[in-house]
Amino acid sequence: MKRRVLILGAGFGGLELATCLSEGLGDEVEATVIDKSDSFVFGFSKLDVMFGRRSAEAVRLPYGEIAKPGVRLLRETVVAIDPQARSVTTDAGVHEADYLVVALGADYDMNATPGLAEGGDEFYSVAGAERVAELLPEFSGGRVVVGVCGAPFKCPPAPSEAALLLHDHFSARGIRDECEISFTMPLPSPVPPSPETSAALLGAFAEREIAFRPGVRIASLDPERKVARLEDGGEIPYDLFLGVPKHRAPDVVIASGMTTDGYVPVDSETLETGFPGVYAVGDVTTVGVPKAGVFAEGAARVVAASLIARVRGGEGPGAYDGLGSCYIEFGSGLVGRVDVDFLSGPKPTGAFQEPTLALVAEKEQFGSTRRARWFGR
Ligand SMILES: Cc1cc2nc3c(=O)[nH]c(=O)nc-3n(C[C@H](O)[C@H](O)[C@H](O)COP(=O)(O)OP(=O)(O)OC[C@H]3O[C@@H](n4cnc5c(N)ncnc54)[C@H](O)[C@@H]3O)c2cc1C
Repeated sequence: MKRRVLILGAGFGGLELATCLSEGLGDEVEATVIDKSDSFVFGFSKLDVMFGRRSAEAVRLPYGEIAKPGVRLLRETVVAIDPQARSVTTDAGVHEADYLVVALGADYDMNATPGLAEGGDEFYSVAGAERVAELLPEFSGGRVVVGVCGAPFKCPPAPSEAALLLHDHFSARGIRDECEISFTMPLPSPVPPSPETSAALLGAFAEREIAFRPGVRIASLDPERKVARLEDGGEIPYDLFLGVPKHRAPDVVIASGMTTDGYVPVDSETLETGFPGVYAVGDVTTVGVPKAGVFAEGAARVVAASLIARVRGGEGPGAYDGLGSCYIEFGSGLVGRVDVDFLSGPKPTGAFQEPTLALVAEKEQFGSTRRARWFGR
C-alpha cells in the first residue's frame, strides 16, 4: 500500500514539499496537494503589480501546469481538519492521510483594524495590489501612509520596500515634492535581526525624506477625518493609506484546535505538531522564524526528508536550521540582501549585502529557479 501524504496549501511550503517528495519518492508515494486557488503568486510579485510593472495575470502561475510523478493537485477548499484522525474535509469530500502537512499560510483580517476596509487600502493581496495600481497614477499629491496594523506579518522588509518604491513612483511622475511619505510599523526597526540592514534602510528613508515611525501599531482608521490612529494614542493624517492588515491563521486551522496564540506550534527541529503524523510548515506556524517564503521552503525540505525516511527507512534529516536570504528592493532599480539565521545561535543574526544590480539579477533568478522547479517552466 502506498503511503498517502496530504498537503494542505500549494504556496511556498506546499509546492516545495510536493516537489521534494516527487523527486525523492516518485510514484512510491501518493501525495495529494489541496488548494482553493487556481494559481500561485510570489509575494514579491505583489509589489510589481502595485507599481504597475506587471499585470496580475502575468504574475500568476497556474497550478494546472504542474505535472510531477506521485503528486496530484486538487482545487478544493479545506473546510475542516481533524488532526487526531488525519482526516480533512473539503467542499468536495473527505480525504484521509497517513501523513498530514498543514501549509495553509496566514490570512488577512481587515476587520481587526476598524476603518481599514472603508478608509484605506492594502497591498498584501493580489486584488489589493491591483487596486493600488489603479489609485497611484491618479494620485496627484498629499500624504501617503504605509502602515502596518499588527505583528507578526509576512516579509518584514516588504513595507519598507513599498515606501521606497513610492518615492521612485512619485519622483518619476515629477510630483515627489507634492507628496509626503510616512511609514509606521510595530517592530522597533525595519529588519530587527540585522542592525546593518536596518541602518541601510533608515539611511535610504532619510535620503528620500520618508518619515519612519517604528514601534507602534496602527490601531484604527477614521475614514471621515482621514486620520490613522496609533496604538499609543497618536494620529497620522493621510490622503492615501496603504496598509498591511493584521494577519491570522486561516479560520479552518483555528477551528481544528491545532493553534495556540493564533498559530500552529511545531517542534522547531522537526516541524511536527503535537499530533502524531501531522506536520505544519510556513506562515501558519510559530517556529521562531519570520513569515516568509524562504523559511516556509526550508521547513518543507526538512519535512520532506523526514517523510522520505519514514517511507523508505533510514536516517531522518538534521534539525531545521532557520536560515533564509531575503532580497530587499531599495528603489532606484537596486536590490539588497539580508542573510538571516534565526535558530542556530542564542539570538537571531542577519548579514547585509549592499544594494547592487547583481542582486537584482540574483532576485530574478530566485524567482525563475522556483518557477522552473515547481511549475516546469
Ligand atoms: C508584498 C509581499 C512581499 C513578499 N516578499 C517576499 C520575499 O521577497 N521573499 C520571501 O521569502 N517571502 C516574501 N513574502 C512572503 C511570502 O509570500 C509568504 O511568507 C509565503 O508565501 C508563505 O508560504 P506558505 O506556504 O506558508 O503560505 P502561502 O504561500 O500563503 O500558501 C498558502 C496556500 O494555502 C491556500 N489556502 C488557504 N486557505 C485554504 C483553504 N481553506 N483551503 C484550501 N487552500 C487554502 C492558499 O490559497 C495558498 O495558496 C512576501 C509577501 C508579501 C505580501
